[in-house]
Amino acid sequence: MLVVMERGATPEQIETVCREIANMGLNPHALPGAQRTVVGITGNLGMVNSSRLETLPGVIEIIHVTQPFKLVSREFKKEDTVVKIKGDGDTVEIGGPKVCVMAGPCAVESREQALTIAEKVKKAGAKIFRGGAFKPRTSPYSFQGLGEEGLKILAEVREQTGLFIVTEAVDTESLGLVEAYTDIIQIGARNMQNFSLLKRAGKSQKPVLLKRGMAATLEEFLMAAEYIVAEGNPNVILCERGVRTFADHTRNTLDLSAIPYVERTSHLPIIADPSHGTGRREKVLPMSRAAVAAGADGLIIEVHHQPEAALSDGPESIYPEQFEVLMKEIAGIAQVIGRTA
Ligand code: PEP
Ligand code: MN
Repeated sequence: MLVVMERGATPEQIETVCREIANMGLNPHALPGAQRTVVGITGNLGMVNSSRLETLPGVIEIIHVTQPFKLVSREFKKEDTVVKIKGDGDTVEIGGPKVCVMAGPCAVESREQALTIAEKVKKAGAKIFRGGAFKPRTSPYSFQGLGEEGLKILAEVREQTGLFIVTEAVDTESLGLVEAYTDIIQIGARNMQNFSLLKRAGKSQKPVLLKRGMAATLEEFLMAAEYIVAEGNPNVILCERGVRTFADHTRNTLDLSAIPYVERTSHLPIIADPSHGTGRREKVLPMSRAAVAAGADGLIIEVHHQPEAALSDGPESIYPEQFEVLMKEIAGIAQVIGRTA
């Protein structure tokens, strides 16, 4: 349920509404908007008796949210959430008019590898560097990532290139480390419904990149985001990375229709991952174009200077020269739909 405050509602009136909600044993979430403040209510199992709130000074309207997810729904917040990442000089926004591109190897393999790729993706226009230090691998015998050593390399990449960093946390233990070293905490497809991990990410001050589970419906995806936001972290970036289907010409089926669905249903930004979404290098460029055309707020792309020697996901990693082409082409598409890249 949402309590909509009048335009000129005072901080004291908003505080009174929040206190009353807390007295009812529920959780208030005050959300100041461009026009007015809305106070969301969570923690209720059924319908909330709103009569006590309707009459409080400054309250203009009570809206019952029909979606099972509340805080992440458009009903709760009309304006787009723009996730801002601030550095010493630079600021990057995800969810604004500019399409934001994150790029780098699947895994951080060495200092030299990470710095080489980072220089190349930066030159092509990427703003955020990706690279896993903790890798969730299907086989326990596959490369599991460099762990904290990898995070130190990522911190050096930030230092030397000015790129922001996104990297995955696979459990609550690694989340504490990832949080300390990087700018965006990635929660992978395999962990989309790891509810204790989601709650922990919700307590972080850092933005979270939440990937869609490989068999998750969009409702389950948004409910996972709700876990993070309900713990107090509003900065969630959703990522469509493909779902498992019967198709065998790709690794996953990139569900691009998720993008307009999310845009209509939620205020959170959504980006696309055509690398894991297809699993094949030659399909990354066309699906990147398509994702931007569909309205994606950004892309996350695996790039490797020697993909044949990559320790993970070589077949879907594109060469730096291909990444340059991708950046140019998506800029053209962004322009057609009134955005920039
Ligand atoms: C990744 O980004 O490297 C990754 C493992 O992605 P996903 O969780 O989407 O499989
Ligand atoms: Mn990968």
